Amino acid sequence: VSRFENITMAPPDPILGVSEAFRADTHEMKLNLGVGAYRTEDLQPYVLNVVKKAENLMLERGENKEYLPIEGLAAFNKVTAELLFGAENSVILQHRVATVQGLSGTGSLRLAAALIERYFPGAKVIISSPTWGNHKNIFNDARVPWSEYRYYDPNTVGLDFDGMIADVKAAPEGSFVLLHGCAHNPTGIDPTPEQWKIIADVIQEKKHIPFFDVAYQGFASGSLDEDASSVRLFADRGMEILVAQSYSKNLGLYAERIGAINVVCSTADTAARVKSQLKRLARPMYSNPPVHGARIVSNVVGNPELFREWKEEMELMAGRIKSVRQKLYDSLCAKDKSGKDWSFILQQIGMFSFTGLNKAQSENMTNKWHVYMTKDGRISLAGLSSAKCEYLADAIVDSYH
Ligand code: PMP
Repeated sequence: VSRFENITMAPPDPILGVSEAFRADTHEMKLNLGVGAYRTEDLQPYVLNVVKKAENLMLERGENKEYLPIEGLAAFNKVTAELLFGAENSVILQHRVATVQGLSGTGSLRLAAALIERYFPGAKVIISSPTWGNHKNIFNDARVPWSEYRYYDPNTVGLDFDGMIADVKAAPEGSFVLLHGCAHNPTGIDPTPEQWKIIADVIQEKKHIPFFDVAYQGFASGSLDEDASSVRLFADRGMEILVAQSYSKNLGLYAERIGAINVVCSTADTAARVKSQLKRLARPMYSNPPVHGARIVSNVVGNPELFREWKEEMELMAGRIKSVRQKLYDSLCAKDKSGKDWSFILQQIGMFSFTGLNKAQSENMTNKWHVYMTKDGRISLAGLSSAKCEYLADAIVDSYH
């Protein structure tokens, strides 16, 4: 008898499990709108040209595979913080940011969670309802208590701003407030610039610590600066903030696991101490991070020519998503005779759309129409082609009514 006998079968991951089911389906119209990964109009994965160019540069230079320092590649840490805050931002000029390379967005969030667990015992993280499913797993495994604040209003398929503000106010003073920097996952609903100011006011009033998850910089609007404006608003107020970054989507480096955790502190001295403790937390977890993605990012962001090309490719990707969003909306309006207002689809931003389909309706999408999606009604528009918009609209209209 096995010593592991009492280990039960874990349930499949609600997002990555969708791809497994998709692969097993043989229907010709099948569509995978589960995982948030960019596809071309032919629904093929896409490696950015600038990534290939950066990789060629690396080969030409004959770079080695020695270990990186615990905090990661220095050139990467420099450019990643500059990309986020802007190179001329006072937090950069005053050396107030502790930046450590992480294992993409997830690993960077996990490192920040470990920092919270160690140095803020009992402090709570408040997360939006709903949020990216893995946030809960990350804080659970790091033993950081969390609770939810209201965010999504099913009646308007929009932001429950009053509910959000009330819940942020009601959280114990000094809580960490997890915010999606742009392109909220799963809803695609972001606060307006005016609403961001009020959110910042309330967080300051309550002495909370903002904790940004930035997984889509440049990918939401097509502009790197515009997508970082929420984070910069908080930094410009002199607040101490945490920011996790990911290059999975905007550079298409999903499997390279490249990202960073940035802790903005009130002094350079504090930032140095925070950084030393982040390294101390990273060392026993994974020792040091992988080099390949870090070199790609530092080559692309640090080279004016490649940087310019990257922005063009990113605009192209963001533009394709916007155009299928529009086409899906048009198809829904044309096909649905019930008079339902679908304009919420156009108000959402980023790679996801929250359709408002409930669990049973989402199951109908998959079982009858072979459209694979998460059961919360979220679809990834990055996995949709214009050619399949009408088919998807048929499926949605059928599932709704
Ligand atoms: N945060 C959010 C909100 C996300 O949507 C994602 C990607 N799905 C991540 C973090 C992290 O992804 P990764 O670990 O691949 O960077």
